[in-house]
Amino acid sequence: MSQQQKDMEYMRQAIALAAKAEQAGEVPVGALLVKDDQVIAQGFNLNICQHDASAHAEMNCIRAAGQELENYRLLDTTLYVTLEPCAMCAGAMVHARVGRLVYGASDPKTGAAGSVIDLLNFDAFNHQLDVTSGVLAEECAEQLSAFFRRRRQEKKALKLAEKQQGLTE
Ligand SMILES: [Zn+2]
Repeated sequence: MSQQQKDMEYMRQAIALAAKAEQAGEVPVGALLVKDDQVIAQGFNLNICQHDASAHAEMNCIRAAGQELENYRLLDTTLYVTLEPCAMCAGAMVHARVGRLVYGASDPKTGAAGSVIDLLNFDAFNHQLDVTSGVLAEECAEQLSAFFRRRRQEKKALKLAEKQQGLTE
């Protein structure tokens, strides 16, 4: 299997993890960490469930990987994530010395792998990552936009129901 095929296969797994986040009522973002062609750890968004702004998919994945490897340095690993990481997650990747990042959809609002800022190839830092972007980007982006679309519709329906209830009371 070529590296490109492997990247797509792992990204499919990340998308499946993102779906788990969605089932838990979270924004669907999924991540996994691979070393020597083995999945070391997985993660998905848990901000709402855990009341924790830092519980992004990548952070949960990095924490689990550290426990698994009993080392906070995640040397020679590749992190796969469905959405471009934010500044917090990019910072954690630099601290953990993750070797490579592969992400799906770009995030023009908070992306810190080039969209808003590039913290992963910042010369003044002592570690840089190889970055591959846009792997299964459309699928990753569609998973997110479908989620937000559904949520908007649910909010709208709720508002309408409240309004109607108000009229009948
Ligand atoms: Zn993040």
